[in-house]
Amino acid sequence: VRVIDDPAALAGHLDARRGAGDRVGLVPTMGALHAGHRSLIERAAAECDTVVVTLFVNPLQFDDPADLGAYPRHPDRDRAVAAQAGATVLFAPSVEQMYPGHPAPPATTVHVTGLTDVLEGASRPGHFDGVATVVTKLFALAGRCRAYFGEKDFQQLAVVRRLAADLSLPVEVVGCPTVREPDGLALSSRNARLTDAGREAAAVLRRALDVGLVSLLAGERDPDRVAGVMADTVMDERLVTLDYAVAVDADTLRPPVTLHGDIRLLVAARVGGVRLIDNDGVRLGPPSDPSAEARRSASLAGASPAGTVAVGGGEPDTRRPEPAGGGV
Ligand code: AMP
Repeated sequence: VRVIDDPAALAGHLDARRGAGDRVGLVPTMGALHAGHRSLIERAAAECDTVVVTLFVNPLQFDDPADLGAYPRHPDRDRAVAAQAGATVLFAPSVEQMYPGHPAPPATTVHVTGLTDVLEGASRPGHFDGVATVVTKLFALAGRCRAYFGEKDFQQLAVVRRLAADLSLPVEVVGCPTVREPDGLALSSRNARLTDAGREAAAVLRRALDVGLVSLLAGERDPDRVAGVMADTVMDERLVTLDYAVAVDADTLRPPVTLHGDIRLLVAARVGGVRLIDNDGVRLGPPSDPSAEARRSASLAGASPAGTVAVGGGEPDTRRPEPAGGGV
């Protein structure tokens, strides 16, 4: 793997590789690589010839200096993990190389309106401006490429897709599924900061999403009620403090009047001092006609177990809801 720290050198190298016919894949990360990051790199390596993994803990996206200071850093191990997963280039600039005026903030930043006012944006002021600014810089340096982001950070993925489209950047944004521990906890660099008891309690986030999905499968279409059952699940766990639990439209990230189409369930909570987020998605059929809805509710009130009812207005569906797929 070729290690590059100079932004201009990265741009020059990728121009040369594209000139030689390579497809370029970009995997932005903040390091402390785990199997979630590895899955993104492997996907990029399967689809591209030159694969750049960026390792940069972006100070602009941290609202809390303590969180920035505590962020885990393992550059040597990251280099080995990235190379083994198929990276051909490791871009690891210093803060000064990315932001020459640092610690003064850059004069130009990127703000994506609408999508960033809610959820993580409401809880972490300035966070998405930091994300949008660094991602735009990385896209500018990388040039024409495919860029791989995890659905784990679903709102981030939505923000990145929007900025790439709005600014006509020559980047195809690819969303990748969340990699989880056996008990369902989404892999995150922050998990290493959990105590043993906190680690066990943290699995409640996945359980809350499952409870939300089951209520959708059972025909619930009221976003507040779905959010309520998820919130109750999290609040039952003594060591976990709920930040939010929502059922929203996957494109707007706002709750519709009635849930239909691409729906995303998202939760955020604190376990000890560690803030964790998770989400899952489902595609619901178009709103069914009210009489069919009433018939289904009646049959549900009978004995039908959750998971054997229709999703949307269609035929009974015995599968888990389909993951919405394709969609930081
Ligand atoms: P980070 O280093 O936390 O900024 O994450 C870098 C990229 O890895 C982002 O696109 C994340 O969404 C993605 N990512 C983080 N955790 C996971 C996971 N458990 N599964 C899949 N992708 C992930």
